[in-house]
Amino acid sequence: MYGKHVETQCVHEGYKPENGEPRQIPVYQSTTFQYNTSDEMGQLFDLEKEGYFYTRLQNPTNDAVAAKIAALEGGVAGMLTSSGQAANFMVVFNICEAGDHFISSSSIYGGTFNLFTVTMKKMGIECSVIDQNMTEEEIDKLFKPNTKAVFGETITNPTVNIFDIEKFANIAHRHGVPLIVDNTFATPVNCRPFEWGADIVTHSTTKYMDGHGVGVGGCIVDSGNFDWMAHADKFPGLTTPDESYHGITYAKRFGKGAYITKATAQLMRDLGCIQSPQNAFYLNLGLESLAVRMKQHCSGALAVAKYLEKNDKVAWVKYPDLESDESYELFKKYTPNGSCGVLCFGLKGGRDISVSFMDKLKLASIETHVADSRTCLLHPASHTHRQMTEKQLLEAGIAPDLIRFSVGLENSEDIIADLEQAFKQI
Ligand SMILES: *Cc1c(COP(=O)(O)O)cnc(C)c1O
Repeated sequence: MYGKHVETQCVHEGYKPENGEPRQIPVYQSTTFQYNTSDEMGQLFDLEKEGYFYTRLQNPTNDAVAAKIAALEGGVAGMLTSSGQAANFMVVFNICEAGDHFISSSSIYGGTFNLFTVTMKKMGIECSVIDQNMTEEEIDKLFKPNTKAVFGETITNPTVNIFDIEKFANIAHRHGVPLIVDNTFATPVNCRPFEWGADIVTHSTTKYMDGHGVGVGGCIVDSGNFDWMAHADKFPGLTTPDESYHGITYAKRFGKGAYITKATAQLMRDLGCIQSPQNAFYLNLGLESLAVRMKQHCSGALAVAKYLEKNDKVAWVKYPDLESDESYELFKKYTPNGSCGVLCFGLKGGRDISVSFMDKLKLASIETHVADSRTCLLHPASHTHRQMTEKQLLEAGIAPDLIRFSVGLENSEDIIADLEQAFKQI
């Protein structure tokens, strides 16, 4: 524990050098680790001892960075993954297998939507996607005996609505399953889902955590709060012996560390979607300034949102921090210091005008990216979500004219001046 403030934790958590050791986290650019006796390495393979033996399973650089993210979230353990997609796959697959079912909000990142409803379906895992504004009673009815988890995004990408974490935590727990929250857009600087009852958090670290558009990556953090043994029949992977590890029962042996230990020892071992130590190092550089950057992203986005709201060529603006926003009440509850730097808007005249407006911008660039130091934008209906049908787009709340605008670290006056010159041309 290094100080109680998030700015301090961003700089210091996860790595504490001993006397004379490197001040910055070293990049352990090594696939493997050597031992003096065969027996010592054998104990590592049996999970009898902690230690490193092969970077596909664990690497000291990655572990330090994962520990920092876990500390920021207030969790007990974390695991880095090669991407946010890998994190969201593994977080579910760690507790769901063929024949199981889980429930997800429909307002999620397009890639996650496809993963859950197309690819995981092929693996025999069924996902019910729901409107996150449904009542608790309506959602209760969707649970089945084989339901294993509930999933949502703290701030939905790209529609920037705020997920009512506490409501969904209550529902999930009533049915004996964990709530998983993708906290990519809010980051633990603006919201810590565990404080509202979420059990497991994921990140696409590619976004604000990296913050500079340098490395694709992901992370899973466990709160350690979900009592797997209390629902042992639902989660046999955690509560019955793992024959591939000489009969270890994760929940018994590792207690609060069970979920991440299983994800590392089983899923990383077998699926291998690790983050490279070099990328973990870059990620850590981003994390050091995360708290400072989030303030600038949020104040810039609020200035841009207010400017757009007053512009008579703009049909609508969506940003949770605006008093006029449908998520404003949830914003005040979950992200009172600012939600994120992403907002959405549409122009009068619809889809075609919105698209041609985008081409006129000079400072803001068209990118399949978000949450970066540089202001960027895209049109989900033609880009990230183009595989969705019109019906699915509407279900996910994505209007055909929606422009996703990610406010970078530039001075907001310059961003607004860029918007202004583009408006003059349409
Ligand atoms: C980008 C994103 C993902 C996917 O992450 P990648 O790092 O691109 O694989 C998942 N969830 C959210 C909310 C995202 O924004």
